[in-house]
Amino acid sequence: MALTLSARCLGIAPSVTLAIDAEAKEMKARGEDVIGFGAGEPDFDTPEYIRDAAKYALDHGMTRYTPVPGTLSLRKQIAGKLLKDNNLSYEPTQIVVTNGAKQALFNAFSAILDPGDEVLMPAPCWLSYPELVRMTGGVVVEVLGDESNNFLVDADMLRQHVTPRTKAIVICSPSNPNGCVWSREILEGIAQLAVEKGLFVISDEIYEKLIYDGLTHVSIASLNDKIKQQTIVINGHSKAYAMTGWRIGYAAGPANVIKAMSAFQSHSTSNANSIAQYAAEAALKSGDEIVKNMVQEFDTRRKLIHQLINQIPNLSATLPEGAFYIMMNISALQGKTYQGEPIENSMDFARLLLGAQKVAVVPGRPFGADHHVRLSYATSQENIKNGLARIAAFVDSLE
Ligand code: PMP
Ligand code: GLU
Repeated sequence: MALTLSARCLGIAPSVTLAIDAEAKEMKARGEDVIGFGAGEPDFDTPEYIRDAAKYALDHGMTRYTPVPGTLSLRKQIAGKLLKDNNLSYEPTQIVVTNGAKQALFNAFSAILDPGDEVLMPAPCWLSYPELVRMTGGVVVEVLGDESNNFLVDADMLRQHVTPRTKAIVICSPSNPNGCVWSREILEGIAQLAVEKGLFVISDEIYEKLIYDGLTHVSIASLNDKIKQQTIVINGHSKAYAMTGWRIGYAAGPANVIKAMSAFQSHSTSNANSIAQYAAEAALKSGDEIVKNMVQEFDTRRKLIHQLINQIPNLSATLPEGAFYIMMNISALQGKTYQGEPIENSMDFARLLLGAQKVAVVPGRPFGADHHVRLSYATSQENIKNGLARIAAFVDSLE
């Protein structure tokens, strides 16, 4: 038999966000003066009390396999968090701790999708969702939101795409890449649709704490008991506690789904790192004071970057309501050229900008938004000011 890769594998694109982040970091390591608005990861260090907990775990023998779904004490702590923050009551058997929220998503899609099952996806959406669905045999059905309505997608829009093969809806609020926040009212409509049609909801709430202007995060699972029975809540420590490298995520949902997710995990990665699990528990125990300080700083940067983008001729952006991303509309530049090279789409824009001004942004195309590029404002105010000045110079140099 030929030594070919699987068709499933050949259909998967590597993560553009991680690729751009790696390229920007490599350029920096070569001594180049790059400003990175690429991958979304907090630029703060993991708080000291969390690092101390990990050191304690290391020195006190917490270095062995844990139960596949995570230590009981961490799952209890997560159950407490879900009750306190999200008004959701789960038993530890309804929670699985994973290697980052990414693995929780992978396990969730693996547990519910058969080949050909369709997954409705409000778009622009985080670029890993479509690939994760394809990796697990599903079919992606993107439902595009409009920028004039903050990119929000409601039940009426989703309903038009429901077929007998529809199996699930993915909600990410606050959203990566738009920063939009789904209101209780919109979520109620989506919950009603999901219950009526018998659809799972994958609710990715990893940015729940990064929310501004006094808005409150609502978990769709908390709306009523019926929708809770159909929802898999995804969350993790990467964003709220600046713990991207520790790889701690989790899912909560119906016991049979969580059991299936754990079965997948038992054969792929076993448990999440035992030391990180102990530290994750400490993170949850300590309250949200540090998170609040981080949110305050992100809020200042959010307003700054929004203002600076909108000051540049031919560029615009909507003010995000959550997360730490902003979508910059580049449609007025499409058709222009940089030193003879045309800007036909977001990929051209990102590539030429990086070459010309050493500013890394993520093209919108893999998110389903080719008239936009995504900037992460999880970087210093100084970088934001310098980076936007360089973008202004780039735009000015276009013909
Ligand atoms: N969901 C969303 C919307 C994200 O942006 C990310 C990015 N890291 C993840 C999940 C995965 O996070 P992690 O695997 O680091 O927990
Ligand atoms: N989720 C972040 C982002 O969208 C981190 C990179 C990744 O996991 O793709 O940039």
